[in-house]
Amino acid sequence: MQLPLGTYLGDSMQPFQRTLRAPIGCTGVGLHSGRKVCLTLRPAAEHVGIVFRRIDLPDRPLIAARWDHVIDTRRNTTLGLPDRPEASVGTVEHLLAALAGSGVDNAIIDLDGPEVPIMDGSAAPFVFLIDCAGLVTQGAVRQVLEIVRPVQVEDETGSVTLLPDQSGAPVYEMDIEFPSSAIRRQHRLVRLAPGSFKRDLARARTFGFVEELDALRGAGLARGGSLDNAVVLRGATVLNAGGLRYTDEFVRHKLLDLVGDLALAGAPLRGRVVARRTGHRLNNLALRALFADPSAYRFTPAVSASATRDGMPAPLAAAAAAPV
Ligand SMILES: [Zn+2]
Repeated sequence: MQLPLGTYLGDSMQPFQRTLRAPIGCTGVGLHSGRKVCLTLRPAAEHVGIVFRRIDLPDRPLIAARWDHVIDTRRNTTLGLPDRPEASVGTVEHLLAALAGSGVDNAIIDLDGPEVPIMDGSAAPFVFLIDCAGLVTQGAVRQVLEIVRPVQVEDETGSVTLLPDQSGAPVYEMDIEFPSSAIRRQHRLVRLAPGSFKRDLARARTFGFVEELDALRGAGLARGGSLDNAVVLRGATVLNAGGLRYTDEFVRHKLLDLVGDLALAGAPLRGRVVARRTGHRLNNLALRALFADPSAYRFTPAVSASATRDGMPAPLAAAAAAPV
């Protein structure tokens, strides 16, 4: 099914699955590996989901973007196949956030290296690629992951709570606290309604402290990191010549990471996520805790059959009837 542009409902409110209209690609360096890598986003069939493909390895292994494929959460989210340790893909979170925030359900992502390019450290370059490629609506109804009962995970520094919320588009809420006076305490809440990801989160860059750099590089991380792809702080000073993109860019980026990490659920959320001083590890543990308790969630069509009229879901019929 190909619907005219005027039926676009945006983001997670859209009742049908969507994919890219055409392939599109870019080249960049991996934040942690420092390696140059080519990335191509390709259209995919209904129900495929988001799947990475390492085209530089024999047999071009497929790695589905799923919560149970997460193998490393140190300063990034890395996916891998348990039986093929070399078949991994690092720093997937910003790209996954862009795809989820743009309402893309199905895509194959070709990479010729082990890490998604960091681009400018935000999700904006990926949103730009998706916008340039365009989207097509597919025939299958989108499934959403509805939170039915609260689930919470916590560690010594933070927590993630998944809560039922039927009020509309999913809500993501974040609190962060850093000793640097450039950050201190920041709180933000975003409802992923049409356009809000692109407007409120996509441009927020990853960030780090000069003081940590030697330790990170010693651990094989941040080798490609620079002022071109991260907000870099020395104590309370932002070293980037252009300053910040949002006054609270730090908490917005943490929300971006949260959206990307929770996209590994494989379906848009229907619920509320409350995160405090969290990171990739706790974000992933939240999904593992959710899926460990079948009474806490259910997959449900984005639009119920009872809401259809003349074979078309009611919101879509209304959108189709509205002036474009
Ligand atoms: Zn990030």
